[in-house]
Amino acid sequence: MEILSRQLRTMCLSSDVSYHPRCSKLKLTHLVFADDLMIFTRGDLPSVQKATAILSTFSNWSGLTANLEKTDIYFGGVNPTVKDLILERVGIKEGSFPFRYLGYPVNDSRLTMDMYNALILKLQTLKGTYSIQHLSYAGRIQLSRDIFWGRFDSKKKHIFKAWQSICVPWEEGGFQVKDVCIWNKAAMLKWLWHLDRGTGAIWTSWVTKYFLTQCSIWDLAIRDCFFESLRGVLLLRDACIKQLGNVQAVQAMLSNCIIRNKFSVKRAYDSLRCSYPVLVVYKTIHRTTILPRHKIILMLAVQRKLATQDLLITRGITIVNRCYLCKAAAECADHLFFACPYAAGLLTLLQQWIQIPSSITSLFSLLTLHSRGQGSKQHLISCGIGSLVYAVWAERNARAFRDQERSVQAVFSELKFTVTALLASRGPENIFLDID
Ligand SMILES: [Zn+2]
Repeated sequence: MEILSRQLRTMCLSSDVSYHPRCSKLKLTHLVFADDLMIFTRGDLPSVQKATAILSTFSNWSGLTANLEKTDIYFGGVNPTVKDLILERVGIKEGSFPFRYLGYPVNDSRLTMDMYNALILKLQTLKGTYSIQHLSYAGRIQLSRDIFWGRFDSKKKHIFKAWQSICVPWEEGGFQVKDVCIWNKAAMLKWLWHLDRGTGAIWTSWVTKYFLTQCSIWDLAIRDCFFESLRGVLLLRDACIKQLGNVQAVQAMLSNCIIRNKFSVKRAYDSLRCSYPVLVVYKTIHRTTILPRHKIILMLAVQRKLATQDLLITRGITIVNRCYLCKAAAECADHLFFACPYAAGLLTLLQQWIQIPSSITSLFSLLTLHSRGQGSKQHLISCGIGSLVYAVWAERNARAFRDQERSVQAVFSELKFTVTALLASRGPENIFLDID
């Protein structure tokens, strides 16, 4: 490709070939994305013929030939007579805007919402497929916020955990989900940093050459003629200055995102997102032996964010609060895990089985006690607690929504089987439990 690049650059040195508008300062003739090549020429026959001649020469030298079936020529503002002449001479079929590249629409003017319809339809179809419907709870939240919140199946779910608290790392009590809006801002800060320093790849060099010759990025006024990506960076610049007070403070903030002379988008993202205190039991919750769906329920239970009846009452969703398991007390997280006689019965059986101290009375203290160490015993206890909390929540939901009941012994037998299978998957040294 280096040879082809040099040929194209040499072509532009001749007097009868010109650069595309606003490409001469950068001597920009072509863009290469993996296997795809985009060549830009002036819309006249000599320029196009020179470009195709170079491709032909390159083909003779390298043996690489453009696939004409996958090659299109696009015109913008070209006289129809000239266009017909070009199409006749070069033998490449005409493409039309908008076209899709890697699934995204490409147009010669600003994209409208209609142009994204095909992409949106594809995503909606993907969400409805069999494989997605059978993803785990954790897998679903990675796929879509809508699915987690219940809009996926047109039924509103009651989630008491704010989206911003889900988009934080495990150790802060989140689900390690990236907030794409904040990530986009962090990525734009990288462009702002490059534009401030006059470094970066083609895009920032191009902006510098054409818009920053008379002023710095901090003084550039937003104009209507600016394209969306530059407007986005400038709007973010103004928002940062407004929030932090002045340009120097924004530059200091950008400097804090530098790791080994490179701008870290991740560090910028971490500085922009909400942050929460470290959850002391997160290591216990995220041991490898706990299933992802167990981790999610365990995390919500510890944070008291499961849709228990005491929380539903606060939103007016229910007016009666009675535990589905014991039918004797009001339901809240502290009751369900494990003041409730049903859940306490399960915990007692688990304690006898894997020798957890019986003095422990709350879920949080149970997890805190076993937050250190990575031995088999710790994995066994974490796995047991994760499975137990999930089993209690599943039994509670079965009684609430499907009118199905199982005895403590039946639930515990299934729990033992699950725990034994999970630990056995870690290696033969963990197969020591009886599952009778
Ligand atoms: Zn109860």
